[in-house]
Amino acid sequence: MDNPKVSIVVPLYNEEKAFDLLIGRLKQVMLSADYKVETILVNDGSSDRTAFLIEKIASEDERFVGLLLSRNHGHQLAVTAGLSVAKGTDAVMIIDGDLQDPPELLLDFYKKLKEGYDVIYAVRKNRKESSLKKIAYWFYYRLQQRVSNFKIPLDSGDFSMISRRVVDYMNQMPEQSRYLRGMRSWVGFKQFGFEYNRDARAAGEAKYGWKKLFELAFNGIFNFSDFPVRFISRLGIMIILLSFVYIVYVLVQKLFFGNVPEGFTTLIIAITLFSGVQLISIGLIGEYVLRIYNQVRNRPLFVIDKIISKSGQ
Ligand code: UDP
Ligand code: MG
Repeated sequence: MDNPKVSIVVPLYNEEKAFDLLIGRLKQVMLSADYKVETILVNDGSSDRTAFLIEKIASEDERFVGLLLSRNHGHQLAVTAGLSVAKGTDAVMIIDGDLQDPPELLLDFYKKLKEGYDVIYAVRKNRKESSLKKIAYWFYYRLQQRVSNFKIPLDSGDFSMISRRVVDYMNQMPEQSRYLRGMRSWVGFKQFGFEYNRDARAAGEAKYGWKKLFELAFNGIFNFSDFPVRFISRLGIMIILLSFVYIVYVLVQKLFFGNVPEGFTTLIIAITLFSGVQLISIGLIGEYVLRIYNQVRNRPLFVIDKIISKSGQ
């Protein structure tokens, strides 16, 4: 399809059960929009009939593009691949293939985009998930917001609409471990949180097990926060300060009361003081690692919104 205004990117991993339902809903949405919409169906190395179904629809209907990855690369990379081929001149919308994210919100998101927002991210008012997962999500998003270097919104996943210029920036970010919702916030501009109720999965099982969720969570913390490294040095400083207090105490015990076993004082001083010194040293090395990491990650240094000058140059 030439010059679609909006692309929808859908990562699919073994989603044959929900596929027909998904395509039906997407067709409906594309019909109800009065601008051109294309859908990129990304097959993330499924072992069921998903790839076959994608090939079929993409060769029959010009509104669908099939993108087949060579093997399972994981959700974040599947979406990244989709973003790299999406042609939408105005925006790209990212949704899950299990219909947990209602595609119908395209119309509302697009309206917001036209109001001047660059990113419209969906915020989950409620989730239909096991209570253990709900607690884990709740805790994680709050922890992440506390430690991250800039504001990443609470309870929002990858379900969003992203303007063309933000997509271009995200495509330019060469980092290997990708945490798209963080990268999306990092780019900045005006972003709008759109509240919605997250539906239950239409069919099939969740593909994100605890292991993948933890991997994602780690990327979310370590890619966007200096806190873990800085924490080591801070802990070291605190331990040294505490050890000074303790050293004074054991010295007083030894010199004035003398009721301390031989060698105890030296030992305790060595242990407390040097464990602090060691932590600070590790933190120091960590600080260099952090800088090397930032350098090789090679993100753009800044993002310009507008340049305003009278001559228009
Ligand atoms: N997915 C994918 N690759 C994977 C795992 C998941 O493309 O390795 C897709 C999956 O097909 C679905 C979306 O990512 O469309 C979200 O996955 P899931 O529903 O399992 O995650 P949850 O909703 O539990 O967070
Ligand atoms: Mg899901």
